[in-house]
Amino acid sequence: MTPAVRVRFAPSPTGALHIGGLRTALYNYLWAKKHGGKFILRVEDTDQTRYVANAEQYITAALDWVGLPLDESPELGGNFAPYRQSERKAAGLYTKYVQQLIDSGHAYYAFDSSAALDALRKTAEAEKTSFKYDARTRINLDNSLTISAEECKKRLAEGADYVVRLKVEADETIAFDDEIRGHITYSSNDIDDKVLLKADGMPTYHLANVVDDYLMEISHVIRGEEWLPSTPTHVLLYRGFGWADKMPKFAHLPLILRPDGKGKLSKRDGAKFGIPVFPLDCEIFDGQLNFGAPLQTSSPEEAQKMEKEGRFMPIHGFSQWGFEPAAVLNFLALIGWSSPDGSEFFTLDELIQAFDIQGINKSGARFDFDKAKWFNQQYIIRQDNAILGEKIQDLVKRESNQDFSLDYCAAVAAMLKERVHFLTEFYKNGRYFFAPVDFVAMLANEKADIDKKVAAKWDANRATQIQALANNLAALPNFDAAACHDAVHAFMQENQLKMGELMPILRLALSGTFKGPEVFDMMALFGKTETAARIGLFVDFMAKYKG
Ligand code: GLU
Repeated sequence: MTPAVRVRFAPSPTGALHIGGLRTALYNYLWAKKHGGKFILRVEDTDQTRYVANAEQYITAALDWVGLPLDESPELGGNFAPYRQSERKAAGLYTKYVQQLIDSGHAYYAFDSSAALDALRKTAEAEKTSFKYDARTRINLDNSLTISAEECKKRLAEGADYVVRLKVEADETIAFDDEIRGHITYSSNDIDDKVLLKADGMPTYHLANVVDDYLMEISHVIRGEEWLPSTPTHVLLYRGFGWADKMPKFAHLPLILRPDGKGKLSKRDGAKFGIPVFPLDCEIFDGQLNFGAPLQTSSPEEAQKMEKEGRFMPIHGFSQWGFEPAAVLNFLALIGWSSPDGSEFFTLDELIQAFDIQGINKSGARFDFDKAKWFNQQYIIRQDNAILGEKIQDLVKRESNQDFSLDYCAAVAAMLKERVHFLTEFYKNGRYFFAPVDFVAMLANEKADIDKKVAAKWDANRATQIQALANNLAALPNFDAAACHDAVHAFMQENQLKMGELMPILRLALSGTFKGPEVFDMMALFGKTETAARIGLFVDFMAKYKG
């Protein structure tokens, strides 16, 4: 019987989770669900020096936002709890495994002081080589392989500082199969005797990772390419423990590259390229991660000052850019994986069906932000206006603390959805739906066109004409788009006005911009009073502008 599929997403809580990590989580999730398996969150927090408070909360909030439900996690618990390595360490879970490796000769105590090792590193550097604690060097170093058993016992009893290292034999070939990269071999001569247990008694990543994958019955390790060089060490650990036949299958995901293709996408590239590389808004404040709550800085001035000093970094996430979580997942899935038939649109369920580890590419994949935006636009267009309307309602409430009806917001959705890439743009680009036209902004944006298309031919006569049209509209018995259309066209004929003379005026009066949805649809949505009022205000504005 093939073992049940159990995969884990195993981030270290050292900062905000960026989209590379989110893609790793997604691929793990897809693989688990494709096989009716379990998707587990394990928090690898053994390195207390790099621990960042709130990072774990950020990770779970991000998984929550995109909608990747966990089956087992520190919060949910599960049969293999606890799921935080610091808690597993506190429960003494790793001690017996370290002892087992020492007893079987696969690991040893090393007493070398950091100063002694630093000196060796410096000497090597001066000789343009690098120092490696390995089969070649350890025979001259201070460890249980070079001192007598009695001496070792004595030192341990006296409480001497020590670490435990993996004993990597020289001249061995370490081979394993990677589900994406095929058969991989390393020479053991290239691998150092990694520390397994640190001087403070904490297990290192390598030890805790392997022991936990084994204990948690992980079937597939799906992780970033940067962990490939650690895998031979892990293979040796499985062998050392006698668990070689229980070793999970490995799949190392390709890197996500910067938008310009030059190297790995880093956390700092967000600010550099003006794009989001994190799922959710947050701020780094003196090494602390804050999100979801108001900024800790007391004032914007202070924040600015701290930003200059490098102590504060605001991060704008996909969420706050206005991305739809489903669009983000769809887009992320296609960075490094493509479906056999080239399809691009997938619901999460469809992704589960279509996804296959074998379809993942070996080479790095570029983070194409225009593609992300395009996906988001497509997701917006495909959404029901009523559902979009709800989101717009929330957005407007958030942005301006105003309540608009669902019907109104759904109508705005219908009119603007083809014209936006982000949900936030329903408010940003369509503010005139929720506030009077901002004539100052209008002038700033459109002055040249206003002068050419409207102001050049504006005089008292035109003002009277337009005001008369506003009055006509206000008197319509049935005020809908068709009635507005007919009334405006009749007015054009009577007054011998061309489309190009009248429509830009009406458009500006209603929205303050020359680009936007159908004029008569806007009129119908605003209703007769508001439509007439807007036209009236525009006439006043032009009188002042020309005056
Ligand atoms: N804790 C590692 C990380 O931060 C996990 C790597 C792995 O999945 O083995 O990514």
